[in-house]
Amino acid sequence: MIKVGVTIIGAGVVGLAVARELGFCSEQVLILEKESAPGKGISSRNSEVVHAGIYYPEGSLKAALCVEGSDMLKEYCAKTGVPLKEIGKVIVATSRKEEHALEDLCRKGMENGARDLRILSGKELKEREPNVRGTCALFSPHTGIIDSHRLVRSLEIQCLAQGAAILCRTALTALEKTASGFTCTVRGPDGDHYSFTSRVVINAAGLDADEVASLAGIDVDAAGYRIYPVKGEYFRVSPAKQGLVSGLVYPVPERNLMGLGVHATKDLSGSLRLGPNALPAQSRSYDVDPSHAQAFFESARRMLPFLEPADLSPDMAGIRPKIQRPGEPAKDFVVRHETEHGLAGMINLIGIESPGLTSCLSLGRYVADMIREAGLVS
Ligand SMILES: Cc1cc2nc3c(=O)[nH]c(=O)nc-3n(C[C@H](O)[C@H](O)[C@H](O)COP(=O)(O)OP(=O)(O)OC[C@H]3O[C@@H](n4cnc5c(N)ncnc54)[C@H](O)[C@@H]3O)c2cc1C
Repeated sequence: MIKVGVTIIGAGVVGLAVARELGFCSEQVLILEKESAPGKGISSRNSEVVHAGIYYPEGSLKAALCVEGSDMLKEYCAKTGVPLKEIGKVIVATSRKEEHALEDLCRKGMENGARDLRILSGKELKEREPNVRGTCALFSPHTGIIDSHRLVRSLEIQCLAQGAAILCRTALTALEKTASGFTCTVRGPDGDHYSFTSRVVINAAGLDADEVASLAGIDVDAAGYRIYPVKGEYFRVSPAKQGLVSGLVYPVPERNLMGLGVHATKDLSGSLRLGPNALPAQSRSYDVDPSHAQAFFESARRMLPFLEPADLSPDMAGIRPKIQRPGEPAKDFVVRHETEHGLAGMINLIGIESPGLTSCLSLGRYVADMIREAGLVS
């Protein structure tokens, strides 16, 4: 049977970033992707915000990897020419209660290492964003936006240049532990099945990461790996109004962090979008329900009083790979070497929701360090 050193399941930003970090290690690195090209999953259906690390509990992987990943991404983009712009973000309070929440958020962000955060008075908010309504705001100057499609392409090229192989239209369908690693079975583009052995298997399968873990025999419910997908829809704001906001405008987040609340994001072309909402995903459909426009309008108009219902048109949607059930508190990223499950050599990345795009390079480094320290690659 053909032997591979490291097999990565999933060519989203995370799988590609892990392969890039493994770089010129002595092992053959193989990336399996079930879709026709890299980056067609969560990595290309998100807000494209490079977060500063404000929201996440102190000591969590999300907090540490977001702060580190944001710096790494900025350095990477400066070197490779992937478009990224620090346009800044305001989190806007519209009531006294929210003002207190902002102060807590500011403290938490600073403890996490988010830089140069400060509270803007109502007057300062008006100077920065004259068309945004709020009593005060938390300002994060280093939050940015990135072209996620260009990032995927750039990481893909780096991986190929370093000698990794990316097999598209190739899905992992079975995984069996052996004495020296794993037997991987895949369904190729022709529909036939093929098997090979791999010493290390890294599960970066995004929305299907629970399924991949269960292929290895892990009870995903007992392990807390079950994914409860949550859809997020976006609506586009008419071009005539897109210039009325200059940076990112967020509400004070929901307590359980199901989402960060419907916010206004700009992309690098200057377009303005509202989103995402948070709805349990019944299927993998990325359709946007036009009847949700009213709810978006009502929720965004508190901060953006210039909006009219006719300004909104359906845009796109993404699906978050949450490992918390609806109503449960937010959970941290899971990045685990599965020795306790008797699966030495398997690393699972589960629940890589936001800030996974911001954290892709730091996650890549974290996983590469983990497998080097375990002596799995040199
Ligand atoms: C609505 C929304 C908004 C977001 N906004 C932001 C944001 O502003 N900033 C931020 O930092 N993060 C954001 N995120 C999170 C971020 O997009 C994700 O954390 C990140 O893209 C996850 O990347 P990934 O590589 O893990 O997943 P994916 O990109 O989904 O990659 C996984 C890949 O695995 C493949 N795969 C699955 N099963 C198999 C199999 N059996 N065999 C082979 N291949 C397989 C899939 O086809 C897929 O391509 C957002 C997410 C959503 C949904």
